Amino acid sequence: MAYEYDDQNIFAKILRGEIPNTTVLETEHSLAFRDIQAQAPEHILVIPKGPYVCFDHFANSATAEEIVDFTRAVGQVATALKVDPGTGGDGYRLLANSGRHGVQEVPHLHVHLVAGRPLGRMLR
Ligand code: C5P
Repeated sequence: MAYEYDDQNIFAKILRGEIPNTTVLETEHSLAFRDIQAQAPEHILVIPKGPYVCFDHFANSATAEEIVDFTRAVGQVATALKVDPGTGGDGYRLLANSGRHGVQEVPHLHVHLVAGRPLGRMLR
């Protein structure tokens, strides 16, 4: 499956600095920032800096270095927010909407990290 990356999507613009964001964490290959429509006290989006549309695109096309960086960035955000269950935090939810049925609005891979309240069984 070939993916066409739209470099005019809103997260591409954020990565180029054309649109402001509230950055929580930045690494060599990843950026984490606050969702502008937070659904919980903590709602962070973690994105790779590379041009990947969704999770399978990233998993099949990114370098190992990018994948490690992104995975660790997600963990580092959880640690920074003090929500890691392993260190006494109350926990969090990770969610990556993909494609039409996943209701993915922005065609640049992003993982939602949601925390700060009991989340029930589903985010939405
Ligand atoms: O549905 P999807 O997983 O694609 O969600 C995209 C998210 O990006 C939404 O939660 C929306 O609030 C967020 N967003 C943002 N900043 C923007 C545009 C969208 O945080 N400038």
